[in-house]
Amino acid sequence: MTNHRKAAGPARPGRPSHRRKHLRRHLTELGFGVLALAAIVPLALDALVPQRGSADTGRARTVISRDMLQAADTGNVCRRGRVALTFDDGPDVYTPQILEVLRAYNVRATFFIMGEKAAAHPEMVRAVVAGGHLAENHSWDHPHMADLDAAAVHHQLADTTAAIMRAGAPRPTLFRPPFGNTDALVDGQARALGLRVVRWSVDTNDWRGRRPADIAATVLGQAVPGSVVLLHDGVANSAATIRALPAIITGLRARGFCTALDTE
Ligand SMILES: [Zn+2]
Repeated sequence: MTNHRKAAGPARPGRPSHRRKHLRRHLTELGFGVLALAAIVPLALDALVPQRGSADTGRARTVISRDMLQAADTGNVCRRGRVALTFDDGPDVYTPQILEVLRAYNVRATFFIMGEKAAAHPEMVRAVVAGGHLAENHSWDHPHMADLDAAAVHHQLADTTAAIMRAGAPRPTLFRPPFGNTDALVDGQARALGLRVVRWSVDTNDWRGRRPADIAATVLGQAVPGSVVLLHDGVANSAATIRALPAIITGLRARGFCTALDTE
């Protein structure tokens, strides 16, 4: 549940052995279950303050349709509070289409960006910011951070912040550890770099290849005021995430939620 695969990417140095990785995966999943129950996933929505918008690129299969961009203005009043939509592991080939849907619905979201992808696609980072969204830190290449030594942790955090800023985005203030995997060393370095460590509270498992309707149902079934919804713009199955977005956004609004950062 807390694991997800990237759409593509180079081998990562310093990975744990296969067996250890599997063990860690199970422990991570168990751990997250406890975390979720204990609601140790606060992400102050007021920290998600955006900038603004345009531009993009496109190489992915086109997923969005005309219907998906016909956003109804529901006159949302946020009577039940806010829910934050967050997108991890990009920017990647589906990111421009996600930005297009968010723009159509006037939604602001948070993108947790990988440094190596920010370096490869700085124009997409700019498009994220130009759309009024937050471009935040999700490590350089998605390791289990707690496995790394201090120098490697510094590379993951500092170089990603630098790549995001070099692309033209404001300095990131949030760090979402891949797999939710962190420890005191990581937390300390993040703090020193001005990054608050944040996780999520609603896990859609969209990276697993779920149907769009199921992804949306998970969000709508679990959303409460202040929820932080984990979605992915940078994995192989992100097309399903795009297809789920209209139902997620209109469903949340019908239930009285604003998507955090959307326009009141
Ligand atoms: Zn991730």
